[in-house]
Amino acid sequence: MSSFDPKRVESRCAHFIGGVYRQDQAQLEVIRPSDGEHYADLPIANTTMVDEVVENSWHAFKTSDWASRPPRERARVMRRWADLIDADIATLAPLEAVGSTRPYSEVVAFDLPFAAEGLRFFAEFADKVGGEVACTATDHLGMQISEPYGVIAAIAPWNFPLTMACWKIAPALAAGNAVVLKPSEMTPFSCLRMAELAIEAGMPPGIFNIVQGDGRTTGTSLCRHHRISKVTFTGSTATGISIMKACAETGPKPVTLELGGKSPQLVFADAPDLARTARSIAKGITGNAGQVCVSGSRLIVQRAAYQPLVEEIVRVFQALKPGRTWDEHTTLAPIISAGQANRIAGIVDRALDGGAQALIGGRLADTGLGGSFYLPTLLTGATAGNPAVMEEIFGPVLTVQVFDDEEEGMALADHPTYGLAAGVHTADLGRALRAVRKLEVGTVWINRYGRSADWIIPTGGYKRSGIGKDLGRAAYEANLRFKSVLIDIGQS
Ligand code: NAD
Repeated sequence: MSSFDPKRVESRCAHFIGGVYRQDQAQLEVIRPSDGEHYADLPIANTTMVDEVVENSWHAFKTSDWASRPPRERARVMRRWADLIDADIATLAPLEAVGSTRPYSEVVAFDLPFAAEGLRFFAEFADKVGGEVACTATDHLGMQISEPYGVIAAIAPWNFPLTMACWKIAPALAAGNAVVLKPSEMTPFSCLRMAELAIEAGMPPGIFNIVQGDGRTTGTSLCRHHRISKVTFTGSTATGISIMKACAETGPKPVTLELGGKSPQLVFADAPDLARTARSIAKGITGNAGQVCVSGSRLIVQRAAYQPLVEEIVRVFQALKPGRTWDEHTTLAPIISAGQANRIAGIVDRALDGGAQALIGGRLADTGLGGSFYLPTLLTGATAGNPAVMEEIFGPVLTVQVFDDEEEGMALADHPTYGLAAGVHTADLGRALRAVRKLEVGTVWINRYGRSADWIIPTGGYKRSGIGKDLGRAAYEANLRFKSVLIDIGQS
């Protein structure tokens, strides 16, 4: 059964500027990952169009009262916006699911509620983070006061289009900034509806604008624009580096970079419940078909647990059913594009050439559905330098490496370049905490894998996985700049 009819979902070939749609010339075919059909077109904003969008935001920032109004009123608009998103599931969920890899049922159950709750979470900071009074001699008063940057550029990836966009825009807007969002050119439409709802909620026109286009033309012009004071980005490490260069050359401007990962699942033989651990590991690499920055893509298992763990993971992999995002029986999402599917296949082929063996999967799924699907894959025998161990695959591919003692396990878990997240599974508290200390990653999950709905816990990477945090108080503060004030108050 289908949850919606993909042919009835309307997508606008437009930007969103000053509270209204701005039609622009169609330049890019947008393809549905589920069936490979060209279903819509997208403009690619050139430098002139980017300038128009950013100037509009700048004007809104300067002339509206978004930054200067009482912060609780700003928060009220954000909360109203979140309520409108919750109430708009009938429109937003098909828009999000049709052109992305996100199955409709998951969009309804997780993505949209998470996006809305993200807005509420950051709204709560609006009147709670305002700077501090410094410890000075009593004949001075020293203060640090917080101020928004002005116009912030938010650049988002395709893997969770609305949720990832909200993690960028919510703290920036709650802190009083104007935001220009550039969604991924592969999943550009659902955020337009979200912008419409912001206007309905009472956000001044221009405070949240959307510019459509690719990375090379639109993304680059946006980062380089002289009115952009900060860039907040989620995407690949290579793009993050380009953005940082552009921000250095045209600023320097601060950046928040949430980048790629190659996260380990370190399993000791004393893990509390091996079957449950195996299911969590399987989910951690097949959720969204492995197209998740924190996918646990390297299983590092103590020898005694290898057999039972791997058997259970294989069982879970076998039960997954590839399908379209609007098919209610889908349990394995499509790959975003044929190009990305071929990239996954290429890395796995090189891994096999390099000595790995596929215990299950190892190839594209032959579904006849039109879209690209990759079979959940378990690779054994891959040594530390193997491409499947080294490179971010962004697909449902899990490598397995075996260790004997703790030191060896920890050494394998540490990746030479990435440091986004790690799972550690053990009943030994001391060992778990030693792993927390030892692993050079931004997040460690103990006896679980994946985030909870506790937005207060920041997320972000070490090493080539990024700079700065999304979520948490840290993400809010990163959208403010702090001004020092020193006043001589003399002696009475
Ligand atoms: P990507 O880097 O290809 O694209 C991300 C965005 O950047 C898109 O909107 C794209 O148009 C834009 N872009 C590309 N080149 C640009 C440039 N030179 N200047 C400005 N903008 C540019 O990433 P993707 O394929 O959309 O997403 C997958 C990647 O994102 C993976 O590496 C994944 O690990 C990472 N990711 C990280 C997190 C995190 O929180 N760390 C979350 C989700 C995804």
